[in-house]
Amino acid sequence: MTVRGGYWPHILRVDLGRKTVTREALPPEEDLRKYLGGIGLGLLYLLREAPRTGKATDPDVPLIFMNGPLTGTPAINSSDVTIVSFHHCTPYSAAVGHTHGFWGAYLKHAGHQGIIFTGRSSSPTYLWIDDDNVAFRDASHIWGEDTRETERRIKVELDDDGNISVACIGRAGEAGVAGAMIKNDRNHGAGKGSLGAAMGAKNLKAIAVRGTGTVPLFDAPGLVETAVEWENLLFPGTTDPSQRTVAEAMQDGGNSRNYFDTFGSHRRVLSKNMTDPEWGADFARKYVEACSRWSVTPQPSYNCKISCAYDVEITDGPMAGFVGSKCGGAEPMEGSSAIIGVDDPSAVVILNDLYDGVGIEMGQFAPMMGAVYEAFNDGLIHKQDTGGLDLTWGNWESAMELINQAVRGEGFGAKLAQGPKAMPEAVGAERGITEELRDKILDMKGGGAVMHDHRAAWSAFFCEMTAGYGASTQGRGTDTFRRPDLGYDEITPGVAENLDEALAKVEPVYRTQIMKLFWDTLGICTFGTMGVAGSVRLTSTSLAQATGWENFDEQEAFTVGERISNLLRLVYARRGFKKSDELDLSPRFLEITRVGAAKENGIAPYLPAMVDEYYRLQGWNVDTGVPTRETLKRLGMEEFLDDAAA
Ligand code: SF4
Repeated sequence: MTVRGGYWPHILRVDLGRKTVTREALPPEEDLRKYLGGIGLGLLYLLREAPRTGKATDPDVPLIFMNGPLTGTPAINSSDVTIVSFHHCTPYSAAVGHTHGFWGAYLKHAGHQGIIFTGRSSSPTYLWIDDDNVAFRDASHIWGEDTRETERRIKVELDDDGNISVACIGRAGEAGVAGAMIKNDRNHGAGKGSLGAAMGAKNLKAIAVRGTGTVPLFDAPGLVETAVEWENLLFPGTTDPSQRTVAEAMQDGGNSRNYFDTFGSHRRVLSKNMTDPEWGADFARKYVEACSRWSVTPQPSYNCKISCAYDVEITDGPMAGFVGSKCGGAEPMEGSSAIIGVDDPSAVVILNDLYDGVGIEMGQFAPMMGAVYEAFNDGLIHKQDTGGLDLTWGNWESAMELINQAVRGEGFGAKLAQGPKAMPEAVGAERGITEELRDKILDMKGGGAVMHDHRAAWSAFFCEMTAGYGASTQGRGTDTFRRPDLGYDEITPGVAENLDEALAKVEPVYRTQIMKLFWDTLGICTFGTMGVAGSVRLTSTSLAQATGWENFDEQEAFTVGERISNLLRLVYARRGFKKSDELDLSPRFLEITRVGAAKENGIAPYLPAMVDEYYRLQGWNVDTGVPTRETLKRLGMEEFLDDAAA
């Protein structure tokens, strides 16, 4: 390899069945420049190696941890590592999870670009990477532990609390629960696609890493200079909340401060399974008020200038003294609590912490909770169905019991662990209420939902349904944030009045998705780019300075993003996606809201035309949603021509 920086020349290939670890050269430089790293290289390996019909939990399906060329470097927020496999619940999709904290940077500092796991260990194991030394360790004694205790015990065992990062699964990953995630560094984790279930199926409890080296760079002083310019633009001192960068909105404690402004006041809180948007405004207000009294300690990731993640200590009431470790976003608050009508802020912190401890990403599990709580409150199911649990809105003790039952595979909770497609039948068949439960569950394509109510923010909604790896956030267009970095200076109304206005929403979604996919290849947290003036130039320049690709420019950055979008679609194409799957959406999403701008308008009538427009912009066949030969040739992706649309 002739790349002069940003990459180590190899990945680790780990066969868990044979207990072997080998170093394997990275793909040639031509491929690196096309797909860069992170999600791009991860998907490239998946498409080249994974059996086409395999399931995420099959031993020969790879579980891929991939850094980007900027991970672990002086570039801003250079903490991102991407984890890729097949989706556990959306059968035709890839699973893609991003996580921050320190794990990816430490792996890079240990001298490794990524790791590909295949096979299945005969007994629980964890991998210990100490720079060049890589060893398997027995994990039988920590199998069954939650994620925080697993991190703690491994650090004690390795006798280093300060320089080791641990990525691990909790009981949910061990049990293969829908939504099982991979957690690291207490406040972080890779959630989308149930990657924790794939890790659990391999009997891999954790990966501990310590790295003491530095990443080779082509132009280190230049990269530092760009980082200084970038940091100044992250926090321009905006006083008007609607004009802020994402970094300004999320700095020092994420949604513990601005949650009411960003979601509550817009009626975007996922309230009581989307039945009561007004209730969510109060939910957000109460949470922010409580955090203003409590002790909030920001927890930055590696080289992070924003620190959206935080620990929060409850300092009053019966739960005083409890400390929750949280990421900075609002999905965990809504997924753990608002969806089931819990608005006591102390209970929100405790429920959120339980989900993180057992290792469940709420977007893929909470839809089942929301549906059964609503069914209980509507009188469709009763205590005799729930094993005696009272699911009245707001009953958080019952929620804790259901979560624990799900990971133990016991009781009523076990019926929720099977995912959004299976749950209505599992719970409702005997009572003849399967269809009623299907109407209540929040689900996109079998993969659950993003934990916000975006029925009155159509760009965000359209982004989530087209994102390419199940329901996920990936470039929200312009309904929720200004994107001057991408040429969109104004926030647009969330709801359209006619077809032309609806179609006008598609292009910003497409362009913001493409740029996010580029940023996701680099190894940076995208909160450091969103809304930042010049962020495409800054990130392209940083890449050129790290690697020595001096003529890498903004146009090439966009082309990389297009390639990644096509890689995601090629996974769909190989695994049986049909165009009708694009609109595999729960009826609840398509209902009009009872308040605000979407009081009378719903997106449903416009969606088919919006999808066609999106396919045209992507260069995909409008009848199948699959990349055309022309598109793949234009992007230099000839190796995948056999998968192209006819
Ligand atoms: S902004 Fe938040 S998610 Fe991103 S790297 Fe910093 S702490 Fe982690």
